[in-house]
Amino acid sequence: MISVEEALARILALAAPLRAEEIGLRQARGRVMAGPVTARLTQPPFDASAMDGYAICEADHRSSAELAVIGEAGAGHGFAGRIGPGEAVRIFTGAPLPAGAERVVLQEDCRRAGDRITLGDRLETGTHIRPAGQDFRAGASFAAPRRLRPADLALLAAMNIDRVSVIRRPVVAILSTGDELVMPGEAPGPGQIISSNAFAVAALAEAAGAVARILPIARDTEPALRFAFGLAEGADVIVTLGGASVGDHDLVGKVAADLGMERAFWKIAMRPGKPLMAGRLNGAVMLGLPGNPVSAIVCAHLFLLPLMAHLQGLSGRHAPLRARLGAAVEANGPRAHFMRARLAEGADLPIVTPFDRQDSALLSILSEADALLIRPAGDAARDGGEIVTYLPI
Ligand code: AMP
Ligand code: MG
Repeated sequence: MISVEEALARILALAAPLRAEEIGLRQARGRVMAGPVTARLTQPPFDASAMDGYAICEADHRSSAELAVIGEAGAGHGFAGRIGPGEAVRIFTGAPLPAGAERVVLQEDCRRAGDRITLGDRLETGTHIRPAGQDFRAGASFAAPRRLRPADLALLAAMNIDRVSVIRRPVVAILSTGDELVMPGEAPGPGQIISSNAFAVAALAEAAGAVARILPIARDTEPALRFAFGLAEGADVIVTLGGASVGDHDLVGKVAADLGMERAFWKIAMRPGKPLMAGRLNGAVMLGLPGNPVSAIVCAHLFLLPLMAHLQGLSGRHAPLRARLGAAVEANGPRAHFMRARLAEGADLPIVTPFDRQDSALLSILSEADALLIRPAGDAARDGGEIVTYLPI
């Protein structure tokens, strides 16, 4: 058996980041920018007013100064002339500062009568000017790789970037195996259950930026499995669910090997999750996850999500977070245990409390959980209040 860290390192070593493609900005949410982008213009492009008021010269910034209003500057409509001492231009937020103007006085800080204004007693130190380039300058670099968040899209738009080069979405084919499985909505016959895992695995992959394809359920026969693997053609990653241990009906490893899979490993020292296999099959990465729903989904968090990040050029390492234990836990055995747990607010760190029932067939508990409490292999018994690590799920 190998450790979780070792397994992840080996899985990530199976594939390199995918190639880039160019897409419109409107399609770029959540995509990973492939290379740095350079601002095509300066923002703001000119000194602009930050308030509604009057643009004036510094020398006129005196209580009771009386100035002649000689024009108006609005957003998108600058004042063409130049202002000199004794003059003011009515100005609105976002308007270019007129030539000669050195500050903006707020409209509420002066009185207007006809074409004249009189400054009040309140003289501010701030000029209410947004200097040209205060946000960014033409040529400024926006670093990659980076998963684009909503604010990033606004920044790229402001840089006048309308198309971005992003890493292609990984295509993930998901193959459930088992004579007992039927699809949701069908009526299960005697001894049959509903196939559930694939829906979580597909959703996780999609949330991580992938395109997920759920393949038809394969029966536990070699021809059915061989046919299903054929349907996965073109995928970057093939995830099989179930059929990967050593029971008589666990044919996934055999059929994948017959089809040419170079197996990277077989078993990982973790709970829930044994067995798990990985390798390369016809240019794709194959991940063989357990059939057990909780095991499959925990393994998808631990291995599939980092693989999705890695294929998109991001770090595939997951960073455990710190919390305090909400209840004592027993010593852990030789396999790392990822306990389904609930998070609550704590005084300094969040409080993480594992559920009493950790059976790996309990989807209802996993659905309630918002964290996996990480118990390292061989970890000693721990008291409530001790600092531990967890992965948010
Ligand atoms: P296996 O790894 O094929 O031996 O499956 C282990 C357990 O997980 C068995 O109880 C299966 O019935 C169950 N199982 C396998 N695949 C699925 C699936 N897609 N959805 C729900 N349960 C499954
Ligand atoms: Mg099975």
